Amino acid sequence: MNKVAAIYFDGKTSRLHHVEFSVQGDVAYVNDLITGPDQQIIRSCPLSELRVSERTRHAARKVTFSDGAYLEITDHATFNVILENTGYQDSTVVQLQQSWTGTLAALAAVIITLTVGYVYGLPAASRVVAFSVPVSVERKLGDGLLAFLDKHIFQPSKLPAARQAELSARFQSLRPPRSGSPKYQLVFRKSAIGPNAFALPSGDIIITDEIIALMKDDDAVMGVLAHELGHLHERHLTRRIIQSSAVGAAATLLFGDVSAVIANIPTLMLDMKYSRDAETEADDYAMQMLDANGIAREHLAAAFEKLEALAPGVSPYISSHPSGSERVMRIRGNN
Ligand SMILES: [Zn+2]
Repeated sequence: MNKVAAIYFDGKTSRLHHVEFSVQGDVAYVNDLITGPDQQIIRSCPLSELRVSERTRHAARKVTFSDGAYLEITDHATFNVILENTGYQDSTVVQLQQSWTGTLAALAAVIITLTVGYVYGLPAASRVVAFSVPVSVERKLGDGLLAFLDKHIFQPSKLPAARQAELSARFQSLRPPRSGSPKYQLVFRKSAIGPNAFALPSGDIIITDEIIALMKDDDAVMGVLAHELGHLHERHLTRRIIQSSAVGAAATLLFGDVSAVIANIPTLMLDMKYSRDAETEADDYAMQMLDANGIAREHLAAAFEKLEALAPGVSPYISSHPSGSERVMRIRGNN
């Protein structure tokens, strides 16, 4: 038989009873200690009616009866033996919190996660963060960016308003290939940096007069825009910004004060490169969008060929949207 000293409160008065708690089979007994050898059973009940408080390092364990009466037990070792004998199981969390090895392992796991995460997992983490950034905050990021770019790189588009409207209407008429299509607006600009197109976190898809002139093919322009919409859909730029400005800035971003992040962006922006993976994702999106709207992928393949054929420096498009020669083959379905 297992027994342990305890203090019993009946739950109605503040009177304390020194008792002995014991278990026989499936029944718990509370015996009065004061009455000497002929211990009087104060109460007994099935084990299943008792609630045992979670284990903590120092506090007394509390065993509560269904009527609110309870026991306090400070002899943890003996009580644990009793619990073990009854087959009682702590919840896993409590078991882990309880053991020092568990605590150390958890701490080590956190440190390893942070370290490995910083080096290898940042892209993945930035994806998670990017998708939890409120749209209003993303909007602010984009506003800051567009204002910066307008000041330093762009001039108003020389494209006639009717032509802009025609291209906008055409693109808006295309059905996005997937649900959850991002909100966007086309922004036409004349550029000091040549043929280019890119999407800002705000949903601004900027397309330069120069790239439209280079394409000489509206279907190709649609392909390029679809590629940018793919970047938006995957929130690539937001992810990239978060990744570059890393943990502290990401926190800032999440908690709302974006000024510090925005201050970082211009330098970042000028050196912006999407990863190959991001390019592939955006290409996939573009191909699906073209397919869904009956536009031949060839227009997109040809568009990239034209951009790749430009001398480096003439267009930063390819340096910010890096890809290999396999890209065009992939779009043409040759590999
Ligand atoms: Zn791209």
